[in-house]
Amino acid sequence: MRLEHIGIAVKNLDDSNELFAALFGEAHYKVEGVESEGVLTSFFKSGGVKIELLEASNESSAIAKFIEKKGEGIHHLAFEVDDIEHEIARLTGLGFTLIHTVPKDGADNKRIAFLHPKSTNSVLVELCQEKS
Ligand code: ZN
Repeated sequence: MRLEHIGIAVKNLDDSNELFAALFGEAHYKVEGVESEGVLTSFFKSGGVKIELLEASNESSAIAKFIEKKGEGIHHLAFEVDDIEHEIARLTGLGFTLIHTVPKDGADNKRIAFLHPKSTNSVLVELCQEKS
């Protein structure tokens, strides 16, 4: 597994795009909505790791609930895997709780599955695999 991106929950994507562009000295390279997750995302490159900013696109979005509870900040760590079905089966076998037992479509041309933070020291972990 390799760290692919860090997801950060933000209240206002436009404001945060400006903030992180100033921080990195480079603008985001894409904005993409993920309807099924109720999020609007943008991506930055920082070295070999990406930064994904997430804004809620509706009130029932997990990002809206996260910000309401914890405020803005680091939301998840995403690890790239070669075979997401294999990893889901392997981790389930080890006793991890998966939120998605079947991969779903995520942003940035990825298939994704989240682990439940209760089984990972309260860190929300995303598995992702580039779509071929
Ligand atoms: Zn992500």
